Amino acid sequence: FFIAVEGGDGAGKSTQVEALAQWIRDKGHEVVVTREPGATSIGQRLRSILLDVSTAGISHRAEALLYAADRAEHVDGLVTPALERGAVVITDRYIDSSVAYQGGGRELSPTEVARINRWATGGLVPHLTVLLDIAPETARERFTEAPDRLESEPPEFHERVRAGFLALAAADPGRYLVVDAAQDAGVVTAAVRHRLDQILPL
Ligand code: C5P
Repeated sequence: FFIAVEGGDGAGKSTQVEALAQWIRDKGHEVVVTREPGATSIGQRLRSILLDVSTAGISHRAEALLYAADRAEHVDGLVTPALERGAVVITDRYIDSSVAYQGGGRELSPTEVARINRWATGGLVPHLTVLLDIAPETARERFTEAPDRLESEPPEFHERVRAGFLALAAADPGRYLVVDAAQDAGVVTAAVRHRLDQILPL
C-alpha cells in the first residue's frame, strides 16, 4: 500500500508522516518512511544540487528533469522493492510536488511535467495522496530554519504551487484526501486516520 503526503513548504508533512507511520506500525505492519528529493544515495546528490543557492538560474526544464531523475531512482531503488515485500510505503512528496512546483510554480506545462514523471516512475501511482493544504503566509510562520532556494521564491510562486496541488486533488477526488493543515497537528492526523481506516486493509 502506497501513500504520498503532499503540500507546500511548512504544511507539516514530516510531522504527519511520522504520526501516520507510528499508527500503522502499531497495527503490526512494516512501514517504510521515505521522502523526495534525496531518499537514495544518488538522490542525496541531486537534492544538494537542487536546493543549493548556487543552482539559482538553472533552466526550468533541467530542474524538472532532476526532480524526475531523483524520483526514478527512488521508485526503482526503494519504493517498488518495499511494496513488493508487502510493506506500507509513506513518501513525503511524490509526482504531485513536481506538477505543482515545476508545472504550477515554474509555469511549465503541468501536463508535460506529469508526462515525464509517469515515464520516470513507470506509472506507479499512490493508493492515497494526502494533501496538506495551507496558505503560504501561514506556512511561512512555521519555518524554523533558513529558507532553501525554493522556499525563498516569492509569495506568488507559492500561491501557484498551492493552486497546482488543489487542481490535482479536484481532478481525482477518489485518490485524494485534502486536509486543512492550518489546524492543530492532532486534528490533521485524526482526519487522515479516519480516511485510512476506510481504505487500508489493516
Ligand atoms: O519537502 P522538502 O523541504 O524536503 O523539499 C525540499 C525543497 O524542494 C522544498 O523547498 C520544496 O519547495 C522543493 N521542491 C520543489 N519541487 C519538487 C519538490 C520539492 O521545488 N518537485
